[in-house]
Amino acid sequence: MSTRPADVAELIAGTPTQLFIDGEFVDAEGGASFDVLNPATGEVLCAVADATPRDGRRALDAAVAAQAGFAATTPLERHGILLRAFELLLERQDELGLLMTLEMGKPFAEAKGEIAYAAEFFRHFAGEALRIEGGYQASPQGGARFLVTKAPVGPCLLITPWNFPMAMGTRKLGPALAAGCTSVLKPAHQTPLSMLALAEVLTEAGVPDGVVNIIPAMDAGAVMEPLIRSGDARKLSFTGSTKIGKILLEQSADKVLRASMELGGNAPFIVFEDADLDEAVAGCMQAKMRNMGEACTAANRIYVHSSLIEQFGQRLASEMSALTVGDGAQEKSKVGPLIDEAAQDKVDALVRDAVGRGAQVLTGAERPEGPGYFYPPTVLTGVDPDAQMTGEEIFGPVAALIPFDTEDEAVAAANDTPYGLVAYVFTNNLRRALRVAERIEAGMVGLNQGVVSNPYAPFGGVKESGLGREGGSVGIEEYLETKYIGIAMGG
Ligand code: ADP
Repeated sequence: MSTRPADVAELIAGTPTQLFIDGEFVDAEGGASFDVLNPATGEVLCAVADATPRDGRRALDAAVAAQAGFAATTPLERHGILLRAFELLLERQDELGLLMTLEMGKPFAEAKGEIAYAAEFFRHFAGEALRIEGGYQASPQGGARFLVTKAPVGPCLLITPWNFPMAMGTRKLGPALAAGCTSVLKPAHQTPLSMLALAEVLTEAGVPDGVVNIIPAMDAGAVMEPLIRSGDARKLSFTGSTKIGKILLEQSADKVLRASMELGGNAPFIVFEDADLDEAVAGCMQAKMRNMGEACTAANRIYVHSSLIEQFGQRLASEMSALTVGDGAQEKSKVGPLIDEAAQDKVDALVRDAVGRGAQVLTGAERPEGPGYFYPPTVLTGVDPDAQMTGEEIFGPVAALIPFDTEDEAVAAANDTPYGLVAYVFTNNLRRALRVAERIEAGMVGLNQGVVSNPYAPFGGVKESGLGREGGSVGIEEYLETKYIGIAMGG
C-alpha cells in the first residue's frame, strides 16, 4: 500500500473529532481543541475537541443515567451488540488501520493486525456475556442456602494509552459492555481518533446512548481526578505508566473504587545455552520489535548465555539492520516513527548512557535528522547491568544484550526489578523451562515464544506492573460484583 495525500485527507475529514457524550458528537465547552500530529511527519492531522472538567462531568452524568437501563438488558442483547461491533471493526479494518498509522505511526500491516486483535476482544466478551455465572448451595451448617449472583459493578472510568489506540480501548469496553456497565473512556491525547471512530462503530452496533462516552482531553488529570474522587463511577481501569497508575490508585482510595491497573513492564528475555537459536532470534525480533518496541510487553533486558551471545548478537543485528525504517503508511516500512520527540530524546539518551558505560553497538544507535521521530533498530551487546536502560522501559527499537552464565544468575537478574509484567524464556529443556517459568516473578511468561498477548488469555502483571487481569475468562470479573444472599430455609 502507498497512500495518496487525497486518501488521507478524505479519511481524516470523515473521522469524528468531537467529544462523544450521551450518544452524540458534541463540541467541548467553549470550543476548546488540541492538535493531533502525524509522528511520521510532525504535521498536524486535525484538531480534536479538548474536554474540560465540566465536559467530563456531563459524560459521567450520561453514564450514570444510562447504567440502570443497560444493566437491565439481557446477556443475549449485549452478546449481539458485541458481535456486531466485532464484525464492523473487521469490515473497516483497512480504513481504521490507516487512521491508526496516521495518528500513532505503526506500520499499516501492524495497525491492521491491531484492528483484528482489538475486534477479537469483542468476540471473546460477546461469549463471556452469556457465561456470567452464579451459584446455589446448601450451607455446610445446614438450615440455609447460599444464593450467589453477579451484577455489573456500575459506571466505569477507562483511561487508555497511545501505543495500542484501538486494542487498549476494546480490551476494557468489551468486558464492560458484556457485564452491563456503562463507561466514560479517556483516550491518550496523542491518539484520540481511533476511539472516536470506535464510537461510530459502537453506535452502529446498537450500543444505547450514554452507555459509552469518549472524552479526549489534553489535561487528563484535571478532567479525570474529580470524576474519580466523586465516587459516581464505581470502577477505574487504567493502562499506562506506573507513575500515573500510583496517583490514580490514591485518588480511587477516596471512594474505594474497584481498580484495574495495567502498568509498566521491564521484561526479561532469557536465552539459555540449550535454546534453539533460530527460534530465539525470531522470538526476540517479535518481543522487541512489535510496535517499534513501544509496548509494555517489549523485551527490555535480553539475557543471553555467554556461550551464545556473540552468535545471537550477530544474527539479531543482521535481522534488525535489514528492517526498513519509514512512514508506516508506505508499504515498504517495517519500522515506523516513535510517538513524539520526547520519546525519541529518551531512547537516544538511554542508548548514549549504555554506550558510555561500555556497551558495544552492533547496529543502529544513530538518531536520524527529522522530519518525523524515527529511531533506527539498534542492537547493543555487553550492556552494563547498571545501565539506565536495564532499570526502565526503553519503549523503542533498541535491544540490550547482557551475558549470563548460570540459571540462578539469570533468574536473579530477571527478578531484580520492581516490575513483573511478562518474561520470555527460551530453552529446549522441559524441566528447566517449567522451573524457570515458576521462579520468574511475572504475571505472564512466554516459553519459546515472543508474543503472549491474546484476548482469550489473562493479561496482567504482578508487583508494580499492576492489579487485575484483562482478557481470558477472568477479564469480565473485573467488571462484576458478587452478591451473596443467605436464605433461611425454615421448617
Ligand atoms: P505515557 O507516558 O505512556 O503517555 P501515561 O501514564 O502518562 O503514559 O498515560 C497513559 C494515559 O493516562 C493517557 O491516556 C494519559 O492521558 C492519561 N493520564 C496521564 N496523566 C494522568 C492523570 N494525572 N490522571 C488521569 N489520567 C492521566
